[in-house]
Amino acid sequence: MNAPLPPLLPTYNRSPLRFARGEGAWLIEEDGTRYLDLTSGIGVNALGHAHPALVATLTDQAQALWHVSNLYQIPAQENLAQALVGATFADTAFFTNSGTEAAELAIKMVRKYWHDAGESRPTILTFEGAFHGRSTGAIAAAGSDKMTHGFGPLMPGFRTLPWGDHDALRAALDDTVAAVMIEPIQGEGGIRPLPEPCLKGLRDLCDQTGALLVFDEVQCGMGRTGRLFAHEWAGISPDIMLVAKGIGGGFPLGAVLANARAATGMTAGTHGSTYGGNPLACAVGAKVVEIMTAPGFLDDVSRKAGQMRQGLEALVASHPDIFELVRGKGLMLGLKCRKPNTDIVRAAEARHLLTVPAADNVIRLLPPLTITSDDITEALARLDKAASTL
Ligand SMILES: *Cc1c(COP(=O)(O)O)cnc(C)c1O
Repeated sequence: MNAPLPPLLPTYNRSPLRFARGEGAWLIEEDGTRYLDLTSGIGVNALGHAHPALVATLTDQAQALWHVSNLYQIPAQENLAQALVGATFADTAFFTNSGTEAAELAIKMVRKYWHDAGESRPTILTFEGAFHGRSTGAIAAAGSDKMTHGFGPLMPGFRTLPWGDHDALRAALDDTVAAVMIEPIQGEGGIRPLPEPCLKGLRDLCDQTGALLVFDEVQCGMGRTGRLFAHEWAGISPDIMLVAKGIGGGFPLGAVLANARAATGMTAGTHGSTYGGNPLACAVGAKVVEIMTAPGFLDDVSRKAGQMRQGLEALVASHPDIFELVRGKGLMLGLKCRKPNTDIVRAAEARHLLTVPAADNVIRLLPPLTITSDDITEALARLDKAASTL
């Protein structure tokens, strides 16, 4: 006989914490206990919890219209697409409900482009430590044993290269390669940034062979690094970009942005989504983009990032037995640990500070971009106390 199952499929090892409300960078339990949140729901609540403008936008849209399907014109979707096209390299946008659906469309777009070009380009290059979501395509793309074990046969057409190995990349990037898909800063992989010269070099290599360059900015995009998208720091653009997490501020929303060349094959009937880009999601997304692109917002992210980085460097210096180094950009920061990262996450939780473990023994700090300087000071003090108890 099979063991009894809980009503929720047990695919997560959850903390016992149960939150009833959120305010800015704080999560609050039913009994009023407050936790300082440096997780933002894994980089999703980019404007914090219960941001008044997002609550008002969602409430207004909820009273007017929730859903009509993509059979009809959706003004909120057009507005959001216009805002994203105006603020980025992209000529066009398609909206999804999640990051993994964005990855699926990006893969389809790449394949269709080369199909229509009449060239056989069977391979998409990806990188060790990558995370593109949990769909069959996204796990095949990332290729790690942890995500793919037991789920074969895997979708063919991906080749995973070591992270940061220029020679391997140069050798692999021939004219059978359809695209290179990469996170400018790996999130789940342990906050591993690709240095700006590498991003530029990657663009050059793709241009030499015609391969499409696909950036997965699901975690590092939407203001997280102090620019609207992380690749902007390198002064180059991808052909296709995956967006999700922060763009909905907590409402499920993702997008694929593409330039005209990459999107040529995606004509009527080639792709679709019932929910994707519905009025509720797009009204919220447009408000998020409006707030993030308002003058001063991203400068403020960079200023707070400086404060946080400086504090973390000091923390590493004062606890060299626990922390090894700080890495990342903006408010996407990772502390590489010498003690098991999960022990440190638990010790921080005991001090009512929430952080996220990542691969490579890193703890991730992804505070709301709206976190105050005082809350950063408080978070650093709690992390210091947590480290002292270990
Ligand atoms: C979270 C994440 C995804 C998957 O997004 P979901 O919304 O969970 O499907 C894809 N890529 C990156 C870089 C992510 O961090």
